[in-house]
Amino acid sequence: MSERSRTSSPGVFDFFERRWEEDILPTLARYIEIPAKSPAFDPEWAAHGHIDRAVALIEDWSRRRPIEGLTVETVRLPGRTPLILLEVPGTSAETVLLYGHCDKQPEMVGWSDGLGPWIPVRRGERLYGRGGQDDGYAVFCALTAIEAVQQSGAPHARCVVLIEACEESGSRDLPAYMEALAARLDEPDLVICLDSGCGNYDQLWGTTSLRGIVNGVLTVEVLSEGVHSGASGMVPSSFRIARQLLSRIEDERTGAIVKDFQVVMPPARREEARAVVATLGAEFGRFPVMPGMRLAKEDPVELMLAGTWEPALSVLGADGIPAVVDAGNVIRPKTSLKLSLRIPPTLDAVEATRRLGRSSRRARPTARALPSRPRRPRPAGTRRPPSPGSSPRCTPPPSATSASRRCSGAPAARSRSWPCSARAFPARSSSSPAPAARGATRTGPTSSCICRWPSG
Ligand SMILES: [Zn+2]
Repeated sequence: MSERSRTSSPGVFDFFERRWEEDILPTLARYIEIPAKSPAFDPEWAAHGHIDRAVALIEDWSRRRPIEGLTVETVRLPGRTPLILLEVPGTSAETVLLYGHCDKQPEMVGWSDGLGPWIPVRRGERLYGRGGQDDGYAVFCALTAIEAVQQSGAPHARCVVLIEACEESGSRDLPAYMEALAARLDEPDLVICLDSGCGNYDQLWGTTSLRGIVNGVLTVEVLSEGVHSGASGMVPSSFRIARQLLSRIEDERTGAIVKDFQVVMPPARREEARAVVATLGAEFGRFPVMPGMRLAKEDPVELMLAGTWEPALSVLGADGIPAVVDAGNVIRPKTSLKLSLRIPPTLDAVEATRRLGRSSRRARPTARALPSRPRRPRPAGTRRPPSPGSSPRCTPPPSATSASRRCSGAPAARSRSWPCSARAFPARSSSSPAPAARGATRTGPTSSCICRWPSG
């Protein structure tokens, strides 16, 4: 806490310092010891019980708060992670919703000597360990703030503190709870999300806008099984097709994302970015880049806006591609890429998913590097064949009619299919050239494209 902050309201800060030192930090240390990994990193979370232990710890601490009117409840919907709901009646008609989460990121690597994910270690003013910052502090901060307001005698709105246990898995349980608890949550007049970053520890930071995210897995299948690499050149490369599809969204030369995902940024945000960069000085933009590597932007303000307002595509994982040492001499039957598309603030994720479908159907110039097919006159009244650049296509099921062809891969339960222009897939006639001779982009029976793109 900075000296300037400390001296502006000594009574409140003394209260906070004492409460954190004597009560919260010891509890937070016990919370760090619990490996309450999010369900995405611990699918057996229910059997392991770590999330339940974290919830019990928070619930127990919350019940002991001397906050007038505080009610503490853990809500459990069948098959979902629990949710802690804390309510404090207000002196006005407004409702403030304070949000946090108690599930954690996995262990990861790179801990310094003496530190570890489940070992709370205090060094100076800092407490190390997994989950203390993201996002264990949230409930302690929220209730202590409410307690401080009550102690000061100031009026306050009705406060609802909501702590979920699935945030690091994409908050997949949260919508069900929001629906189930809609009447109790009401329409909040203000939502405070205690789960963002700060530039330094010298002043209070607020995040005014965050990019959204659309995650998905792109799978390209070209063979039913691997074949010897001597078939290269005859069998299309699943990775090349995946790369081509990505180019419909991202310019591989610059990293720029197609304009479908760009928004107009309010001018005030640029001024805010300037102020943040000026405040942080040399601290901003420090990344462990390799010698000779430059960041995406030279200007620090543009760099900040690139990380906060510009869309970006990341490949977070790959499957179907073995490790270099195990690669063998085989044409891989499929390539799967875990993709993460950051979308700018103000662009709704559902809308972004819709635009993703549109972009993925639209050929980009890079995709037209493929040899073009000689044009043949089209008989009157027939449909236009797909352009060479609008590939690849999905293989329609053999029984599909031309009006109902879809991706051969059924979308996962909570996923939307990423449309692959399969509806425009032309019926293959016996006079069509063999698929391998025409390239992967006009697939035959051994080549298909399964594209899944979840809605959240
Ligand atoms: Zn978080």
